Amino acid sequence: MSDNHPGLERCSACGKASGSVLKCSGCRLVGYCGKVCQGNDWSQHKQLCKEKRNAARDVMLFQNQEGNHFGSCPICLLPMLFDADRIMEAEDEEYYHFMGEMTSSPCCWKVVCTTCFDAHIITRIKEQKTPTCPFCRCKTPDTEKDADELLKLSDVQQDNPALLLKVGALHYSKGNHGEAFNSYKKAAKLGNAQGMYFVSTMLHCGVGVTKNHGKAAAYVIRAAAGGHPIARYEAAMIELSRENTARAVKHFCIAASQGVTKSLEELKIGYRSGYVTKSEYEKALRTNQQAKEAMKDNEESRQQMLAEVKRQVTSHCK
Ligand SMILES: [Zn+2]
Ligand SMILES: [Zn+2]
Ligand SMILES: [Zn+2]
Ligand SMILES: [Zn+2]
Repeated sequence: MSDNHPGLERCSACGKASGSVLKCSGCRLVGYCGKVCQGNDWSQHKQLCKEKRNAARDVMLFQNQEGNHFGSCPICLLPMLFDADRIMEAEDEEYYHFMGEMTSSPCCWKVVCTTCFDAHIITRIKEQKTPTCPFCRCKTPDTEKDADELLKLSDVQQDNPALLLKVGALHYSKGNHGEAFNSYKKAAKLGNAQGMYFVSTMLHCGVGVTKNHGKAAAYVIRAAAGGHPIARYEAAMIELSRENTARAVKHFCIAASQGVTKSLEELKIGYRSGYVTKSEYEKALRTNQQAKEAMKDNEESRQQMLAEVKRQVTSHCK
């Protein structure tokens, strides 16, 4: 059989062609005929493997991102509101409070926008029916018992990021910072960008956990990759402080396109200092404007939707 057979691959160490090569689990770019060859080649391959791995991670990290880490509302399909500028101006406590207000119910845990939540509740109340989950229409627990029930639920459902975030916010508001940190860390472990961001801020400030700036930076970069606009801005500031200007600029540009206006100030400084090009700066100005206009349009659509629901409800009652 010819060595050029398409089904065959060559071992990166001994060169033997084989139908089932063992891929390097680090980079998936080289293959071996077996464990022995892989072991023998490792000292040679190690450096390249690390470079390839980092390059692949960077492709993921710097790909363009639209919107934010909350995605779209599953009911109205509009992007979830995440006004990074407003949140960055507000006090930390207010941000945690905002998370506690995110509407998801303990049935399906779908996070829906507050407008869809309000529209559904208004309709139910006017129809004199008990409120249900706006997404799956399940019965929701009594709001009076909510907090205690959530805490109990979170002992069993350890794999639910929406619940873990809510419970984290609940602990945080009661001053149980250690417990809050643990909840956020569990959410982060499940790949939740909001959880990663909270873990990073708590590690950064030493709230509920020992201060650790290195770990905080690693979490903030992961949250940025997960689509968190403020984490994206903070990742840029970290790279700037490490004098990695090229990486910082890439982060600032993405953050600007996600509606973080403070990024523009930094890009302006970079433009004056010569490490940001005119076209990069102009593009950032444009994409930031577009992000803010899109956010405004979406909120207007939501307000119209809510006004329509209210109008229908009142006309029914006449
Ligand atoms: Zn081999
Ligand atoms: Zn490798
Ligand atoms: Zn909605
Ligand atoms: Zn539900």
